[in-house]
Amino acid sequence: MQTVCCVCQKTKSRTGWIQGQSSKETRVSHGYCPDCFHQTMARAQDWLLARSGGNRSLAVGQ
Ligand SMILES: [Zn+2]
Repeated sequence: MQTVCCVCQKTKSRTGWIQGQSSKETRVSHGYCPDCFHQTMARAQDWLLARSGGNRSLAVGQ
C-alpha cells in the first residue's frame, strides 16, 4: 500500500517522501509526511492555546 501525504501530496517511497510523483498503486493510504505532521501539530497547539484563552497565564502561575 502506498502512503500519500494529504497536505502536500508527497508520496512515501523507500528512500523518503517524493513530491509530484503520482502513485500507480490502487490502494492509497492518506497520512502526513514528517514536515506536514509537524506543521499540523504546531497549528493544533496554537489552536488549543487560543481556545484556552487566558488560562495560559494561570497555568504558568503568573
Ligand atoms: Zn506533506
